[in-house]
Amino acid sequence: MMMMNSRVVLPVLFTLLYSLLSNEPDSLSTSIAKIWGNTTTEAPSRPDPNAPRVFPQGFRSPLDIPIRLSGSFGELRNNHFHGGLDIKTESRENLRIHAVADGYVSRIAVSPRGYGNALYIDHPNGYTSVYAHINTFEGAIGDYLKQAQYRSQEFETDEKIPPGVLPIMQGQFIAKSGNTGSSGAPHLHFEIRDTNTEEALNPLLCGFSVPDQVAPRIDQLAVYTFKTDNIYNSPQVFNCKALGGNAYSPVSGSVVTVKTARVGLGIKAFDKFSGETNLNGIFGMKVYDNNQLIYTFEVDGIPFSETRCLNSHIDYKRKQDEQGFLQKCFIDPGNRLSCYKDVINQGIINLADGQAHRIRYEVYDVAGNQSTAQLTVQCPSCAPFVPNEGTGFQQLLRYSSENYFSNDQIELRFPYGAFYTDILFTHSTRGAAKGETNVYSRIHKVLQRPNTRTELFRYTDKTRH
Ligand SMILES: [Zn+2]
Repeated sequence: MMMMNSRVVLPVLFTLLYSLLSNEPDSLSTSIAKIWGNTTTEAPSRPDPNAPRVFPQGFRSPLDIPIRLSGSFGELRNNHFHGGLDIKTESRENLRIHAVADGYVSRIAVSPRGYGNALYIDHPNGYTSVYAHINTFEGAIGDYLKQAQYRSQEFETDEKIPPGVLPIMQGQFIAKSGNTGSSGAPHLHFEIRDTNTEEALNPLLCGFSVPDQVAPRIDQLAVYTFKTDNIYNSPQVFNCKALGGNAYSPVSGSVVTVKTARVGLGIKAFDKFSGETNLNGIFGMKVYDNNQLIYTFEVDGIPFSETRCLNSHIDYKRKQDEQGFLQKCFIDPGNRLSCYKDVINQGIINLADGQAHRIRYEVYDVAGNQSTAQLTVQCPSCAPFVPNEGTGFQQLLRYSSENYFSNDQIELRFPYGAFYTDILFTHSTRGAAKGETNVYSRIHKVLQRPNTRTELFRYTDKTRH
């Protein structure tokens, strides 16, 4: 198909699109193949957010020192939510790591990237503990690895090990901590996963506690207006000041006037643990519109297949423009993340009543420390919202279907599920600019308006850790 000489083969185009839109040159062919394989016409399924959650208990600490964190669970990272705790190891390596419960070693991985040296222990309660960036594997575990490496004659390895081979007792000395893989300083990356689903659970809900009497800090609030049902404009962003009592308010005043009835909210916030200077991720937040709860977000667990949806949860354009992680308090229709509950109208507010709406944000950590911020949004003499895509684009691509774009130079097919929102799509080309000696063909440029960057969903991410 589409192999005519004047046209570019489609996967190449998808690569081009992907790299242009997301600025991510890594593992493109893998991700394209994965997206490409997903041509289902079913709606993306979101797990039932109201299903009862189970958080296993009875674990011991993996270290002999008090747990202090440099990274919290669910923290916002590039292309993923942090799937574990980053436990400080006093700036040292080779601290003794202990199994947090009885079980057996189910996997040993050795890599110069990502998790580095990592150990996985499956427990009889249906959960797996993960210990990453470690230096060495102790005793029989180390012997098993050495034999596997001799067999394969490869240093890098990923061994899946059946039950019965390497049984483990709770508290057993299993490894020494380190700084291997993609790790900037010595620490232990520690996870609790559901063995079957690979959902990472928040260890702070599984009995691992960290002293925390510090409420989150709210840095910015944001107000978005919409062009269409789901395409939003760049937000108005307001820096916040602390009012005392863990309350925050925009420096510029708390009344925001908009000219469109369809409005979404955003926030930039961090959390700290007692006695620490690190800025960590928040655990949860709620948004109220005139005292009605319209949005709840909580990182109690992150299914592996959903972690990429971080790029839909945040304002992706601002992140790419190096303005940090602004979290949206409304949900793009193609966002599969299951961390939302008690959401009304996707978190989107309707100001067509012409009234001032009092908005209250509550941001909290696992320990229950909470900060609040207030804002009033209004649209005086506002007409009911009418979607208006505006001009300056060539084709409206729908998040809810497969999309196809073609002109005399290019053919693009976007599989179902690639987009989180509709896209106002534009294609143009240019030749080499002065001084660009490494350009051998026309350069194709694809973008959307009004945001000139978009995010794509894919199923795996090698940068996750
Ligand atoms: Zn980590």
